Amino acid sequence: MFHRKDTRPVFVGDVQIGGNNEVVIQSMTTTKTRDVQATVEQILRLEEAGCQIVRCTCPTMADAEAIAEIKKQVHIPIVADIHFNYKMALAAIEAGADKIRINPGNIGRPDRVRAVVEAAKAKGIPIRIGINAGSLERHILDKHGYPTAEGMLESAEHHVQILEELDFHDIIISMKASDINLAVQAYRLAAERFDYPLHLGITESGTQFSGTIKSAAGLGTLLYDGIGSTMRISLTADPVEEIRVCKELLKDFGLASNVATLISCPTCGRIEIDLMSIAAEIEEYLEKNVPVNIKVAVLGCAVNGPGEAREADIGIAGAKNMGILFKHGEIIRKVPEDVMVEELKKEIDLMAAEKLAE
Ligand code: SF4
Repeated sequence: MFHRKDTRPVFVGDVQIGGNNEVVIQSMTTTKTRDVQATVEQILRLEEAGCQIVRCTCPTMADAEAIAEIKKQVHIPIVADIHFNYKMALAAIEAGADKIRINPGNIGRPDRVRAVVEAAKAKGIPIRIGINAGSLERHILDKHGYPTAEGMLESAEHHVQILEELDFHDIIISMKASDINLAVQAYRLAAERFDYPLHLGITESGTQFSGTIKSAAGLGTLLYDGIGSTMRISLTADPVEEIRVCKELLKDFGLASNVATLISCPTCGRIEIDLMSIAAEIEEYLEKNVPVNIKVAVLGCAVNGPGEAREADIGIAGAKNMGILFKHGEIIRKVPEDVMVEELKKEIDLMAAEKLAE
């Protein structure tokens, strides 16, 4: 596992954030939270995809109170997303939220801040402070002129101080910006300044295509630095896609256990098989059926094939009317083209069963 910067551990339900090398995968529902059935359905799909914590927005009392019913029907911790209104925060905590996302400095009167903090403390749930470059406090913007990483850090320090003065330390911090340079700088400053776990995210990153690239660029830089204990990829898409991107990114940094990796060649004029459809089929098969850490290669031809993918545990290379199955760069047998994908799946299953039995 790629080493993470040490942080204090914070528990969200039974999920530990920080304090170890795991990076917890999160997403956010896109339904009206008070529509319990639609919200539960979406959370169950997210769970199936690998989401470990889910956030639900609570703009009204009905949304905050719905968390109680939603929690009975799902299996992962729920975070209540609150803006300003301390009554919604109290209602969400009462309803059983496993964490709330609220900036204490935005709540208002000190007695209201204290009420929310005491309620969170009584239930043993953490608070995420969500700094966003787009909504920095007026005095910070006046001082810096525009959103800066230093200004974002000042904002975070202000909110953290409020919680610490109330002897509250189950804190998680995010430093989101839609500009990846700004987000990376802000997260680096926060990682130096705090020992609280950091929640990574690039906000308003875009559609599935552009948002995936932007998030991978920004969050990949931070993951490489060892920064980040939990993350959400924000996409203008079905939130299940956020989980897929998150898992893939963590896998690329050696931060995901029990996931298979597909290696596929870009194809060229030597191609002998329909590699695009085979790669897509095997990728889906691995995602849905192979919860072990193996590398599987699919290659367009055998000329450079097995050698090019020597680091793969198992793979197939196209040849005239056939496929060549190989393990660790060595050919094990040739199979007819019409059954080669099924034969590869059988070998993958055998290898996965062996790994699971180890
Ligand atoms: Fe081309 Fe074969 Fe290499 Fe694929 S494996 S890129 S088809 S030479």
